[in-house]
Amino acid sequence: LHGDPLYDIFYFVRFVRFSNGGSVRLGALADGGVADLSAAGLPTSVEDLLRCGEDWQQRATDAMSRAGRVEQEVQLLSPVARPSKILCLGMNFRSHADEVGANEDALEPTVFSKLSSSLTGPSDPIVLPAEAPGRVDYEAELAVVIGRTGRDIAVEQAAEWVAGYAVANDVSARDWQLKKPAGQWLLGKSFDTFLPFGPAVVTSDEAPAPAEMVVRCVVSGEVLQDASVADMIVGIPEAISYVSRVCTLEPGDVILTGTPGGVGMARKPRRFLASGDVVETSVSGIGLLRNPVTTAAAS
Ligand code: MG
Repeated sequence: LHGDPLYDIFYFVRFVRFSNGGSVRLGALADGGVADLSAAGLPTSVEDLLRCGEDWQQRATDAMSRAGRVEQEVQLLSPVARPSKILCLGMNFRSHADEVGANEDALEPTVFSKLSSSLTGPSDPIVLPAEAPGRVDYEAELAVVIGRTGRDIAVEQAAEWVAGYAVANDVSARDWQLKKPAGQWLLGKSFDTFLPFGPAVVTSDEAPAPAEMVVRCVVSGEVLQDASVADMIVGIPEAISYVSRVCTLEPGDVILTGTPGGVGMARKPRRFLASGDVVETSVSGIGLLRNPVTTAAAS
């Protein structure tokens, strides 16, 4: 298998087998299924692989050659489990800045965070919280996964810190985010299941150039967001450089790069998520998330 082009392509996933309800594994998409890289000695999440050292891609290639059989029946989880940081750019598409009345000429992005406990898998439900069920909104985004430790990273070198890309939805309870007395961005965007992520981390050498990617959100068959990454205000290298002036970026850290126009709160009439909706979030060349929306079970 080694040397076969199929097996040099890395789309990293995290999964459990349906058959034995078994342990969580790191895998690589291959041959219509998933090769078990953890069975070949690798750790069980993308961030732990990246923390192995800067030769992580070689380690994965070696594990791939030993990985053996390809699993067909698996449940995919978020490929990152507990990254040390999830940083998010706000108002980073002109079309979104316009629709919410923000200053679209801002040269420094708004940066906020989501809690890693909000991560959920590519086909898991988005659960409308009992606390805030009525104004839950979608935000399709391209996610960047950081591959190396770095601080004060120059814009010109920032691409070297990108391990790969994934699709994310920055689900947001607008009533908490915007209507609480002081606003609650962190909490309003961090309810459990509010960060569908995946389906894979596509390594940067396999991904299209970001400017060629298209970010989309389709809710119950209706296209609500559809924009080129080229429309971003602050580009990915600039964003990496900017946040690294403040904090050390670490392997597995995630940067959500902002959502385009078309979010539910800015539509007329408004279009918030309701139980029974299906949210399809995609980035061309990276992948598709398909998350049903459910109501929290009474406790
Ligand atoms: Mg967002």
